[in-house]
Amino acid sequence: MNNDRRKVVLIGTGMVGMSFAYALVNQGGICNELVLVDVNKDKAMGEAMDLNHGLAFAKSNMKIYAGDYHDCKDADIIVIAAGVAQKEGETRLDLLQRNTEVFRSIITPVVKSGFDGIFLVATNPVDIMTRVTYELSRFGASRVIGTGTSLDTARLRYLLGDYFTVDPKNIHAYVIGEHGDSEFVPLSQVMLATKQVSEILADDRNDYNTEDMERIEEQVRTAAYKIIEAKRATYYGIGMAITRIVKAILGDENSVLTVSAKLRGEYDSKGVFIGVPCIIGRNGVKEVLELSLTEEEKEKFRSSAAILDESFEGLKL
Ligand code: NAD
Repeated sequence: MNNDRRKVVLIGTGMVGMSFAYALVNQGGICNELVLVDVNKDKAMGEAMDLNHGLAFAKSNMKIYAGDYHDCKDADIIVIAAGVAQKEGETRLDLLQRNTEVFRSIITPVVKSGFDGIFLVATNPVDIMTRVTYELSRFGASRVIGTGTSLDTARLRYLLGDYFTVDPKNIHAYVIGEHGDSEFVPLSQVMLATKQVSEILADDRNDYNTEDMERIEEQVRTAAYKIIEAKRATYYGIGMAITRIVKAILGDENSVLTVSAKLRGEYDSKGVFIGVPCIIGRNGVKEVLELSLTEEEKEKFRSSAAILDESFEGLKL
């Protein structure tokens, strides 16, 4: 008997969804059953065929097939990367409303199937769509997670690693807040190994400076715009970020990742779903970590949370 069955259902087999699926197959050993669901059934079927043909070259075996909402019943994680694109002349709020309807058509049958696992949302605007998932599913907040600023944090570490010529794995830094224009880097919390980067910047014996930090923060904030300008969409990075979160959940890692989670008083905020460092394990969000922010950073966080609250309140659920 196989007690180690780990099943993931992916809803939305577009560029983001399939980049995740491709990373999952290539990294191997994370889960052993992957179901692909899309409103475009032919697309899901074709993608399942294509991935299956690569299995002979993959590290570990996996059962991959196109399915439907009945397949969610015994899944561990539902990854949602389904969404509609902005139409010409459409406002952000109109798009949000249409994506909310897409989510209603997804969450209702998932819950009806008897699914009792964890929702992981990547669809943008991810913080709002995660909150919509929470409201529609009525699941406990720890079991509804968004990709939040996980990709932004990876981008930040990559750029800081490059700047200090240090392996990004030894850079400890987070992008927090909305996955969007109001996100920011609390500089007081950036560490190179266990050394405060603010101390390195203040040291006249090197050329590192605060202006470069601001430039890096801006590069992180505008990375998606740049990629979209160059190749119309971003997908590999987010696909790998989703894979990382799925691995942390299924492996019960208790790893710290900057996901979109519900705040219950942390950072002076309540109810909002927003990117913050969280301990992620088998049951989803085990704990929201509250960083020791400066007064200025606290203010930036509050205004980012206020932007998200306002967008959510404009929605008809
Ligand atoms: P895409 O258009 O390639 O794919 C979307 C898929 O969703 C399509 O296959 C479509 O058929 C499917 N879909 C639409 N309505 C559906 C429904 N009701 N039920 C099931 N499936 C449905 O788009 P993409 O490039 O893969 O992007 C997907 C989402 O991911 C977008 O919202 C995008 O903004 C977001 N995204 C998020 C991040 C992040 O950091 N969180 C990064 C990049 C992109």
